[in-house]
Amino acid sequence: MNFRVQKLAFKHGRNTFKNFVVTFTITIVLLLLGYLFTAKLVLAFKPDEAGHLGITSAAMLSIAEPVGGVKLKFSRQARAEIRDANISTDSLTGDAWVAEKHFDNEEFPAATTRLLNLKSYIIGQITSPSPNGRNARIALGGTLHTIQDFYTHTNWVEMGNTGIDIRLGRTTIPKPPVSLQSSPINDPGVLLARVPHLTSGYFLPPTFCSAPPGKTRHGWDICPNGLNKDDSSRPRYMQARTLAVYASQDFINQILKAPGVAGNARAIRALMGL
Ligand SMILES: [Zn+2]
Repeated sequence: MNFRVQKLAFKHGRNTFKNFVVTFTITIVLLLLGYLFTAKLVLAFKPDEAGHLGITSAAMLSIAEPVGGVKLKFSRQARAEIRDANISTDSLTGDAWVAEKHFDNEEFPAATTRLLNLKSYIIGQITSPSPNGRNARIALGGTLHTIQDFYTHTNWVEMGNTGIDIRLGRTTIPKPPVSLQSSPINDPGVLLARVPHLTSGYFLPPTFCSAPPGKTRHGWDICPNGLNKDDSSRPRYMQARTLAVYASQDFINQILKAPGVAGNARAIRALMGL
């Protein structure tokens, strides 16, 4: 074998190895994605009465807005539309992967800006000369989802807070410093005691188990430990769920009390599907 042939053989071997690595990686990623699509997910409060649906219903049912001597309540149809829009935010073919819709990856500025924008949009839809309650309700469902995820996906509860974060819907929250450490460098599944700043869990492909050094992961089926308090198997789930209900009520009330909406029966009726 002369030098040229040796070189070609070496190159061939290297290409074969490279192809193997690429094929292997693609296979692993596809298997993980397949699992994600079919598994009982731990991505957020569950789309059931213990999770997003129940939290959303509890908030809506608690509201009776007095306008012109009558107390207005969300219609059954309106509640169904808002519930549907809420859980579609966890759609695996789209919104589930947008970190700011779930307060993942410490995306606080984007997540809180989204809440402000959606609040303006909802108010605009119901106060317009031709109100569009359905558009408003679809946006409201998505907004409530993000607000609810704040309590399960951040360390707000672990920081010792027993009330809601009134910044949601009212202002923005800055991103924490990159240097903020919330987990041991070698274990993104463990939240350190007394993290002095708000943080949230990371949910990063391909395995959705890793986090940047010193940060905490969200956690899911194959790596359950992490920041999420998505279901009753997780510590502090009930505190997170309770605050999610209060925060959902608070956001709906922000809309009902907004200038142009407060006392405006037409706008409130449009939102409530009446
Ligand atoms: Zn979510």
